[in-house]
Amino acid sequence: MAEAAARRHCRRGGASGGHRLTAIGPSRSPSAAPLSWQRAGSGGGGGRAEAASGGMEPAGAPPQGCGPAQEAEEPPGSPALPAEEPQSGQPSGAHPGEGEPSAAAGRERCCRRGAGPQGPPGRTARGRGRRAQGRRGGEEGGRAGRRPRVTVDSSKAKTSLEALKISLRQLRWKEFPFGRRLPCDIYWHGVSFHDNDIFSGQVNKFPGMTEMVRKITLSRAVRTMQDLFPLEYNFYPRSWILPDEFPLFVAEVRMMKDSDPSWKPTFIVKPDGGCQGDGIYLIKDPSDIRLTGSIQSRPAVVQEYICKPLLVDKLKFDIRLYVLLKSLEPLEIYIAKDGLSRFCTEPYQEPTLKNLHQVFMHLTNYSLNIHSGNFIHSDNVNTGSKRTFSSILCRLSSRGADVKKLWSDIISLVIKTIIALTPELKVYYQSDIPAGKPGPTCFQILGFDILLMKNLKPMLLEVNANPSMRIEHEQELSPGVFENVPSPVDEEVKVAVIRDTLRLVDPQKKKRKDIQCQTLEHVSEANEELLDAGPADRLEYDTTKSPEAGLPSLCLKQVFPKYAKQFNYLRLVDRVAALFIRFLGVKGTTKLGPTGFRTFIRNCKLSNSNFSMASVDILYIDITRRWNSTGIDHKESGMCLQAFVEAFFCLAQKKYKSLPLHEQVASLIHFCEYHLAALDEKRLVCGRAIVDRRSAVVPCQADGLHLTPAAYTPLLNRTAAASKFADYRSHHC
Ligand code: ADP
Repeated sequence: MAEAAARRHCRRGGASGGHRLTAIGPSRSPSAAPLSWQRAGSGGGGGRAEAASGGMEPAGAPPQGCGPAQEAEEPPGSPALPAEEPQSGQPSGAHPGEGEPSAAAGRERCCRRGAGPQGPPGRTARGRGRRAQGRRGGEEGGRAGRRPRVTVDSSKAKTSLEALKISLRQLRWKEFPFGRRLPCDIYWHGVSFHDNDIFSGQVNKFPGMTEMVRKITLSRAVRTMQDLFPLEYNFYPRSWILPDEFPLFVAEVRMMKDSDPSWKPTFIVKPDGGCQGDGIYLIKDPSDIRLTGSIQSRPAVVQEYICKPLLVDKLKFDIRLYVLLKSLEPLEIYIAKDGLSRFCTEPYQEPTLKNLHQVFMHLTNYSLNIHSGNFIHSDNVNTGSKRTFSSILCRLSSRGADVKKLWSDIISLVIKTIIALTPELKVYYQSDIPAGKPGPTCFQILGFDILLMKNLKPMLLEVNANPSMRIEHEQELSPGVFENVPSPVDEEVKVAVIRDTLRLVDPQKKKRKDIQCQTLEHVSEANEELLDAGPADRLEYDTTKSPEAGLPSLCLKQVFPKYAKQFNYLRLVDRVAALFIRFLGVKGTTKLGPTGFRTFIRNCKLSNSNFSMASVDILYIDITRRWNSTGIDHKESGMCLQAFVEAFFCLAQKKYKSLPLHEQVASLIHFCEYHLAALDEKRLVCGRAIVDRRSAVVPCQADGLHLTPAAYTPLLNRTAAASKFADYRSHHC
């Protein structure tokens, strides 16, 4: 705690420092309850007084009869999804707190190791920072062995800096807090991929992720999957996009009410791009939506409100789970064993016209509830308004709940959500990091916000591209004077997530793995048994010599490709996106032009006497115009992936009439891939002719394209055609 105290620093809040909780404007209709808050002038205590005057009671009493949080911190898994094996020689089933150092303990240990004098001279404050780094680095590097240390540029880390620094100290990696002229191994960005121009190494953000997880984009991506697989994607509340789908919203609600008069729904309206509960309000009827003003200028998602959440201590809470998307191609997903539970600060009641506006009852956002007089800061992970998720699981388990089934459902929710996001992410990726051009590889920590229903079904609320990695919270000492104090609950969870993310993307581990694989390949003829161990086992280098030796086992557990077999059938839109990317043409774009669309139709042999090229053009114009009028992205003209997917579904329904949609789409994908593979074979023949005749450019009869070897080579990796092509080469070349 001494070090934690050392990290305390005071900040003098100006006039805008305090949060006064003031409802924005009166609602137009009695049932439209405003749940938005303004940051008001001075006198930070005002909000608290106001909230307290609402007669709220203290929340978050310590759980009864619940053992330490770690007891429930089982690795994710269930009979359906078997538990993960221990990593890197660490004892299985060991958790922080059970004979393993906690994040804070690890930090202390590493800090003790880290002190040491000497370093290059420097003149500026920057120089001094670097000198300090260098000093620590020299000694640590020596102790860690002769391996060069992994270098991390933390100059753009923003609010995750504190947790990142602790992680780097624990790993004994080298931090460059002001950037570096030479390339670093890893770049840690606080906001997005574009925080800095990077051409090598790894960066902790994917291009396009921020856009993809905005409320509207996420709803659209999930809805596409709901159209294909309604049962598999029923973990996301029914949603409509405003203002475009307002008439649809009204019509569907009326229809549902007509068919079930006992249905008394509540809806939650969430502005697109909003966060921390900003601008959110609850309504009982579509007519209560404030369509004037802000909705027109700021689109939103309206969603069915989950009226029966699971309560703990009579309070609504949600779960923030950390998920590592380690790679997009191949898809690799990890889930943190522990997360955070954020509690409301007023006992929950099902929504009525009277309580709709009570934020502290209905919204679990930490940033809102911290301003309630009932908010409890606790150093204990089992109590208070922010607890570890494992402490909740422990509580549930002691009440007889099937916690393994719950984990299994959460894993499925996470994998399915990422499967919904990957197609568009791949479009962004090829646009920002075109194949063959220098660029970094990406990974990203995502924050999944999940609500548990009374029956323990997890429901996805949203995905955060930049989950807060702050390990401190603000405390108001006196009006206008704030102090940042360490938050042990945040530190325990978040430092482990960052540190273990770094361990998983460790470039040196990858190098060692590559070397080991090569060596093993060499040795394999003599000793086949070694290979049977599998790549993960082979990775177990001598951990006693590495900084990892003293660290806890990984808190991140792989769920994909581990459970790929159970989920791969859902990845249809990924294959549609592969077709889309193939026809994008000029690298660096995200939208398909009319020529690209026509080429797609022609190459896949989709036009015929019933579907002329004129109809193709009409389809393109109709769908593209509609999507571009939604106003999401005006930067480029042309057909976006979602529009292409709609056109593709349309073609699939036309061609395979009586099948369910997902079978229609799967059949059309197969049909297209087949024809493209045949085309690639023809191109190969053309290519051979080029080589044979030593001619630079030869018109290829297959589709009238002019091909040079360089022009068709990139096609090799893109579709199922690749393997056929490779076979062909091995037999004919
Ligand atoms: P923000 O990004 O502004 O935090 P969220 O989608 O996370 O927006 O919603 C804010 C809060 O509102 C959530 O933390 C949750 O407590 C509540 N909430 C959101 N959607 C629903 C829903 N469909 N049903 C019940 N509660 C919800």
